[in-house]
Amino acid sequence: MAPSVAIIGAGFGGLCMAIQLERAGIRSYTVFEKADDLGGTWRDNSYPGAGCDIPSHLYSYSFEKYASWTRRYPEQPEILGYLEHCADKYDVRRKIRLRTEVRRAVFDGSKWQLTVTPAAGSSTSRAPQSGTAEGREPGVTGGPEFSDGGAQPTTGDTEVFDVVVMGVGQLNRPRLPDISGMSEFEGVSFHSSRWNHDHDLTGRRVAVIGNGSSAAQLIPRIAEQVEHLHVFQRTPNWVIPKADATFGPLAKLAFHFVPGLQRAYREWIYRYAEGTLYPALAQGWSTGLLKKRALQHLHDQVPDPALRAKLTPDYPPGCKRVVIDSTFYPALTRPNVDVVTDKIVRITPKGIETTEGLREVDTIVYATGFRSTEFLAPMEVRGRGGRSLEEQWQGGAEAYLGISVPNFPNMFLLYGPNTNLGHNSIIFMIECQVNHIMSCLPYLSAAGPIEVRPEVMAAWRRQLDAAMERMVWGGGCQSWYKTAEGRVTNNWPGPTTLYRRLTTKPPLPAYRPAGSG
Ligand code: NAP
Repeated sequence: MAPSVAIIGAGFGGLCMAIQLERAGIRSYTVFEKADDLGGTWRDNSYPGAGCDIPSHLYSYSFEKYASWTRRYPEQPEILGYLEHCADKYDVRRKIRLRTEVRRAVFDGSKWQLTVTPAAGSSTSRAPQSGTAEGREPGVTGGPEFSDGGAQPTTGDTEVFDVVVMGVGQLNRPRLPDISGMSEFEGVSFHSSRWNHDHDLTGRRVAVIGNGSSAAQLIPRIAEQVEHLHVFQRTPNWVIPKADATFGPLAKLAFHFVPGLQRAYREWIYRYAEGTLYPALAQGWSTGLLKKRALQHLHDQVPDPALRAKLTPDYPPGCKRVVIDSTFYPALTRPNVDVVTDKIVRITPKGIETTEGLREVDTIVYATGFRSTEFLAPMEVRGRGGRSLEEQWQGGAEAYLGISVPNFPNMFLLYGPNTNLGHNSIIFMIECQVNHIMSCLPYLSAAGPIEVRPEVMAAWRRQLDAAMERMVWGGGCQSWYKTAEGRVTNNWPGPTTLYRRLTTKPPLPAYRPAGSG
């Protein structure tokens, strides 16, 4: 009999898992989604200019090519539309339970007991973020979007499954900075991933804190609209151009009708990223080229040497996620935009006070990133013998192939520890993970719950550590790729071709029946 499968999250990962189960004829699954719609990060991030800097034809499932992409690099509404198209085409919507949060997952020795409650609040991007006019901490007490359920009781209905697949992502929980006075700000403030669409920025004095990929996309859009924009930059980022363009009618027709064209185009983008960008991150032959390209881009787009100096990083390119954008630098050179590098001291009712004085603003956008290293939080997860995942991961999250964790039988992760990329499509990685999980299902159906062997996990850890040595992420910068202690828990250090090879190996002998041995 097919195992019952709980999939947590209806983003790219959870939907991929659901679709592959459907395609295999396994209907005994449920997708739990705490928001009021599917889409994951592409539902949450609807800030102006939100999009993906991986080309459309690669940022999509390999089994569902899409000839209708309108541009080379997709924008958020189109990616969300693609996911909706996939959910409808493969008929998985009927299996998604929206506004339903899994607070607790406990392995009882043979099955997973999930504690399920109605979600405290929707986290859709369309839900407006509360302002802070009443003195509320932005997004903390101001709106349900930031409620992570951590402090709430874990009572609710219990539902039982053979297998649990975690598809909650790495960048789903906004990180607000810890700046004194935030709650006293009298204007409106919100996080980039919880955009307040009811708040018109026209003619306003706006501060954006942060200058990562999200900020780089939204700043050019809002700079045209606002009266004045203060961009608070703590650390400059390396930026390379994005050669975006719309597909004309001929290209679209060709993608529709020329056999093999989409496949060939996708393959070419994939190989280019793998062949040129990966070696730069592994400090190989293209490292110098990446730096040269970024410096040239800066030089071409920012004529003022003083501003160029402010925007030049002092760490190697790739250590933090490289920003891929051709509109960011020109926006920073506008007369109504300041790049502020003075240290933020506090937030006052009227604006942001730095070491050089007060900058009065009426809106603050926190483009300050996500709680990326707290995998699966705030869910309480307990494995064999009541072991807490949080305790097991005290030194940082880790999983065999980024998918399986010793002592947590029949639990699989999508986009888990050490599976993020800085150079290629994460959808490729998700598909590898789903394929691996699918290959485990017949084994666990026959043998009962299975778990990865501890010695396999130990060997995996050693290999990761060795591979990590050559990567650029280790020293020289802070980033969301690593824990406060400096351990890189988020990124995959090898070529993606290797990851595909490893995840297509048969699951035996890496796994064993739960608790044996
Ligand atoms: P992020 O890269 O983590 O950037 C956060 C920014 O906030 C950084 O500039 C950081 O400065 C700043 N910051 C944080 N706390 C601060 C504080 N207390 N004071 C001043 N500045 C502070 O977050 P993100 O821009 O949302 O992007 C996260 C990831 O999402 C990206 O790296 C990317 O992987 C993904 N993303 C992808 C796309 C795409 O096109 N594919 C688009 C958007 C996002 P420091 O650098 O000094 O820490």
